[in-house]
Amino acid sequence: MLKMHDFITELYPICRSITGDGFRTTMRAIQQHIPLQLHEVPSGTPVFDWTVPKEWNIRDAWVKAPDGRKIIDFQQHNLHVVNYSVPVHEHLSLADLKPHLFTNPDYPDTIPYRTSYYKETWGFCLPHNQLLELEEGDYEVYIDSTLEDGSLTYGEYILPGETDEEVLISCHSCHPSLVNDNLSGIAVATSLAQRLAQQVRRRYTYRFVFIPGTIGSITWLALHEEVAPRIRHGLVITCVGDPGGVTYKKSRRDTAEIDRAVQQILCDSGEPHKIIDFFPYGYDERQYCSPGFNLPVGAFMRSQHGQFPEYHTSADNLDFVQQPYLEDSLEKLLAVIDVLETNCRYVNQNPKCEPQLGKRGLYGAIGGQSDKVIDQMAILWVLNFADGEHDLLDIAQRSGMRYELIRNAAEILAEHDLLKLRSR
Ligand code: ZN
Repeated sequence: MLKMHDFITELYPICRSITGDGFRTTMRAIQQHIPLQLHEVPSGTPVFDWTVPKEWNIRDAWVKAPDGRKIIDFQQHNLHVVNYSVPVHEHLSLADLKPHLFTNPDYPDTIPYRTSYYKETWGFCLPHNQLLELEEGDYEVYIDSTLEDGSLTYGEYILPGETDEEVLISCHSCHPSLVNDNLSGIAVATSLAQRLAQQVRRRYTYRFVFIPGTIGSITWLALHEEVAPRIRHGLVITCVGDPGGVTYKKSRRDTAEIDRAVQQILCDSGEPHKIIDFFPYGYDERQYCSPGFNLPVGAFMRSQHGQFPEYHTSADNLDFVQQPYLEDSLEKLLAVIDVLETNCRYVNQNPKCEPQLGKRGLYGAIGGQSDKVIDQMAILWVLNFADGEHDLLDIAQRSGMRYELIRNAAEILAEHDLLKLRSR
């Protein structure tokens, strides 16, 4: 099984962007763990109101101070270059250089993350405290990059299930050396795919997409309009390795099954968590939940993007994200998927008064004949609400009991022919 933090450590130095070799190298690293298919979409391809951009690649970049010392060096940290910078090699004064320098005065010792995908320019990022120390004089700047026709790359892995109804797991993979956003998502999604591939039965088909943010989901949706109606549930996964509790951003539908499933699992965990309503900002859920698609796709995070001080700075590093939090995120996602796989509606076959549980060995059958925990109250709740209208999630929510107890009760009642499956 994938060691998530080790995998992140391997991916960390790569300079990723929305296109180019850094993204491809990352996809090939994922292919070492799951059989990801790579797709290339040529620059200039129209995708809804957008166009697939030119491909960007970078080899080197630096700024030399008046005394000839390299004071900003891409080889030291790839956040030092504004992502998508066009090539440049010139000498300029500090005053002329400054409009091309970006800092974050709120976190003056970190390098901020800046991009300029849709405006051709160049720039460097540095700690604010370093900027304050720069002296007047002649600076030499050099960026060895290319921005030319090429393609946008994305990776896709489809894990077939019993039906062609799909669960979409989407993960933006375009950030350079930033760990929580977005390497944690890549590692957890890859592990999740491995774990699901091992399961003997899958009701749903699972589709994992590793895409550049925004333009990637727009491109994927433009090329897969026929798939969209089959997507029953979906999650955008990002920022899943930090010490904060889980934050779940609901889909635009608000009460989709995925929304109810995640809330149930977070509630069942008994751990602090946050549920937030959909809003049209954030990551690729914006595209999946645009009104023309309105897919049941939520966003699963720990600390919310933009809300933790390390966000989009060099402090979002290998120390900030830790293995136990990655594992906790993975286990919670597996629990959510277990709900999606097992949630269904049953009909009580003995609805007029309670069936006599004692003669079936179901009364006080705590622990019962199987290794499953059987709870007496859960049996009563399931019998009462198995009316063909309420699904197991409804019953768990209404009873205030853990989903696992409700599901176990339903399974044992079905084994005793007291329940019949109505529908998924
Ligand atoms: Zn980001």
